[in-house]
Amino acid sequence: MASKVTALAEIQKLLRDSGLRSTSARIAVLQQLRKAGRPQSHAEVALAVAALGLDKATVFRNLNDLTEAGLLSRSELGDHVWRFEIRTEKHSHGAAHPHFLCIDCGSVTCLPGSTIPTALKSSAESIGEITEILVRGHCHNCAT
Ligand SMILES: [Zn+2]
Ligand SMILES: [Zn+2]
Repeated sequence: MASKVTALAEIQKLLRDSGLRSTSARIAVLQQLRKAGRPQSHAEVALAVAALGLDKATVFRNLNDLTEAGLLSRSELGDHVWRFEIRTEKHSHGAAHPHFLCIDCGSVTCLPGSTIPTALKSSAESIGEITEILVRGHCHNCAT
């Protein structure tokens, strides 16, 4: 049980450090995204915390508050769905790690690699700044 308490204290500190009040809704949203370990849409988060009595509008508002405070990052991966994920120290600005999007079920998985390959970076420099690397395909669940 000790680890659960530590995680809660960590989340409360994170909220305080960002100048946000630690409300039960914000804690629940952060805990859910931590547990998921991948970007989730508003609908996915709302479904996951519905058992705690949080309605969709509350979840939406808190996702936006947490994003504005810099605790979450928000991305749109070409399918017109905004997904939220915990922002970590490792890649707190600019292009983070690549994401794998399953074009069948819409699930998104974080891929390792927090830096952009140098070759890609230098050839893209003449065009602009890379903000997202996206890999699309069929996840194992959908491919079988
Ligand atoms: Zn899939
Ligand atoms: Zn990710």
